[in-house]
Amino acid sequence: MKQIALYGKGGIGKSTTSANLSAALSHRDLSVLQIGCDPKRDSTRMLMQGRFIPTVMDLVRVRGDANVSLKDVVFTGYNGIRCVEAGGPEPGVGCAGRGIIATFQLLEKFGALDGDVIVYDVLGDVVCGGFAMPMREGYAQEIYLVTSGELMSLYAANNICKAVQRLASRVKSKCRLGGVICNAKGQPREEELVSEFARRVNSTMVQYIPRDHVVQQAEVNRQTVIEFAPDSPQAGHYRSLAGRIVENTNLSIPTPLETDDLESLAREFL
Ligand code: ATP
Ligand code: MG
Repeated sequence: MKQIALYGKGGIGKSTTSANLSAALSHRDLSVLQIGCDPKRDSTRMLMQGRFIPTVMDLVRVRGDANVSLKDVVFTGYNGIRCVEAGGPEPGVGCAGRGIIATFQLLEKFGALDGDVIVYDVLGDVVCGGFAMPMREGYAQEIYLVTSGELMSLYAANNICKAVQRLASRVKSKCRLGGVICNAKGQPREEELVSEFARRVNSTMVQYIPRDHVVQQAEVNRQTVIEFAPDSPQAGHYRSLAGRIVENTNLSIPTPLETDDLESLAREFL
């Protein structure tokens, strides 16, 4: 079983990419479980015809975990993809990481952490240790960084590299960097820049995904691009990403850059 996680700056396209990746993986006859680890609970929406499914944290809070069953938290969406939203603490209270781990433990108790691929879609960059939880506790083993060529997005990706490097150095840790996904903003030389960034952090750019309006068209129709426009070039990019992730054996311990080096790299590609 592959356990992969997409990390990246807030709003960079993790949920869009995760849902399209899961959809593409499901068409390879793989059994896929997508777990949204974001209190916004919008990770699996496009796989659930626009529905916001209840979160594990909300159900546990209201009923107590003894009264929550598998069918309350695992929903079957597009093409048989199993969808879970971990949810989070009430705004301003508590630690989101703890909720994420409680969710994983509950799913483990139900024997639901299975299948061919688990896709974890994790909120934001690793500003809070809580969001490193999926990788720290050994759930997410292959980390993919979603970034554009914008400096702030690369900066977040580089920070996540620091977390992965730290965790990978632990004796039994299986946490590794799987690669960098360029979810482009459309700036000049963006593909070259992100590719070079990936090389410098001891990894590779696994897929270049252009910015395409079909993503919004699919979204307003409450679908992934794979479902809405399967013959579009954009769907082809997501299918290619799925293929590369399935075949990926290049798992590395990242070498994050110093901030000055990251900035001068970005300047080189202006
Ligand atoms: P958050 O950190 O808030 O969870 P996120 O990283 O999950 O955000 P998304 O919600 O997937 O980001 O994407 C943000 C917006 O960017 C979405 O409205 C989506 O339509 C758009 N988007 C993402 N990728 C692309 C793309 N390749 N082309 C066009 N639009 C895109
Ligand atoms: Mg998201």
